[in-house]
Amino acid sequence: MKITPLQASYNHYGRTSIAQKQERKESNSEVKTKELGTNLLADYSYNRLMVKSAPTFKNNLEKSALVLLKQIPLSERLADSFSFMKPGDLLITGKELKFSQKAMLECLNKVKNVIKRAFFIEEDDFKGNLAFFKKSYEEVEIINTNPERMFITTDGQTYYMDPHDSFYVIPGDKLKYKESELEIRKEPKVNLSIHRPFYVKAFNFEQDSQSVIERQNKKVLNGLYTERKAPQKVMFKDVAGQDEAVKILKENILYPLRKPNAYANIDLSHGFILTGPPGTGKTYAANALKNEANINSRYLNGLEMESKWVGESEGNWRKLFQEAIDNQPYMLFIDEFDAVARARGGTDQYGDKVVNQILTLMTDIDENKYDVFVLAATNHFDALDPAIKRSGRFGVHIPFKLPDLKGTGKIFDIHAKDKPLSEDFDKTSIIERMHELKCSGADIKRLINDAYLQGYKRAGIIEKLDNNTITDADLNNFKITTEDFNAALDTFVNSNCSKRKPIGFKKN
Ligand code: ADP
Repeated sequence: MKITPLQASYNHYGRTSIAQKQERKESNSEVKTKELGTNLLADYSYNRLMVKSAPTFKNNLEKSALVLLKQIPLSERLADSFSFMKPGDLLITGKELKFSQKAMLECLNKVKNVIKRAFFIEEDDFKGNLAFFKKSYEEVEIINTNPERMFITTDGQTYYMDPHDSFYVIPGDKLKYKESELEIRKEPKVNLSIHRPFYVKAFNFEQDSQSVIERQNKKVLNGLYTERKAPQKVMFKDVAGQDEAVKILKENILYPLRKPNAYANIDLSHGFILTGPPGTGKTYAANALKNEANINSRYLNGLEMESKWVGESEGNWRKLFQEAIDNQPYMLFIDEFDAVARARGGTDQYGDKVVNQILTLMTDIDENKYDVFVLAATNHFDALDPAIKRSGRFGVHIPFKLPDLKGTGKIFDIHAKDKPLSEDFDKTSIIERMHELKCSGADIKRLINDAYLQGYKRAGIIEKLDNNTITDADLNNFKITTEDFNAALDTFVNSNCSKRKPIGFKKN
């Protein structure tokens, strides 16, 4: 017979009454059907913190203490741990923390309550992992996080627990996994309390859980009182001719946010510098990333901030980063980054302080592995402070280039999608001309609009608008022609001739 979660319904002080059993049954089924997503306290990024911070032994003394304390039977160390565990605490035993992380992740899925604190006990003799979750002051659950069946003997009867099953345990129960056995004790035979810092590693998330609650409350309240803005619909499919840049954004940010488990053991970068000429789609791609990942974000402009915040920059930067941390996952997009992160050591000591502040804030994000991604765009990569560009701060550099011929065609298609082009429109020649003129994505978009207006002029639509004689038929029959585009391109060349050197033409 397979054990049910209710079978072992004792508490640490004896058997429970029928009424208590019934109560437990109800709370048990409630827990089973309640999905993590409906629980206000459930927060993936918060729970993920747990498995990211691997412990380090500071010195050899701790190491030797651990070796000695490992000689004390595991059942003793567990009994001592049960005595200090509070509801919301998770306790894992295993060979090494890094190998037990899988077991911890399993518990995140299984335990539908928030894990407030986690403890790890290193143990070589007992095969496999043991995972205990303290549900209430009286109830401790064991979760089988191992790949094979575990056995539990309670009240003289033995039951099995398949992988992923979880049951209540009580003092006197015997656990068996493979050839290892262990008895659950109520109290240790000797007082181990002073040895705790050495035999058990603790992770405390109570602070985090507090900020999760605040964050969630803020979100709910904001949702009640403010009308939601319609989300921008720019997606990665709309960003043309920047395949390499989009690939980097997907692999470094989008996929880790979508599938955190796959990246649990990978150190992610949090700072990205998007470089390249204006209008190549840096802001546009960041917008697409925000929409694809469905995350909170904020757009900042380095130049505007510097003029707005004179003398108060450092504090404002701290506030902005704190807002990002409080609302993670979060994307901060900083346009014209060179205005705030130019190389230090010049005469601008005030600017140097800002660079130092940004470096500190980025290091903090990196060390705490927050789900905060800072995308900084610049057309002057060389002007940035070298320390800013280093890995750990803004280590990933994503070049945005002027589109090649194929990219020009794709960008044209995206922005001309709903425009009334004439049937004999010569797309090939217009695309080639745009490419020769080194048009950026923004230029292409603008040229399509200019050609539209040029066509309105040619077809007398502007005049009719002036006279108020315009009809729906005039508008419905209107088409943009190749000539309209050529006229728009001529104007574009004239207005940009001082800046641009066309490809394929001899430079003067
Ligand atoms: P940047 O931030 O590099 O200066 P933007 O992202 O602000 O350039 O580009 C301005 C506009 O030009 C965008 O909103 C978009 O409409 C268009 N655009 C730029 N690059 C692309 C691209 N690669 N694909 C499609 N549209 C683009």
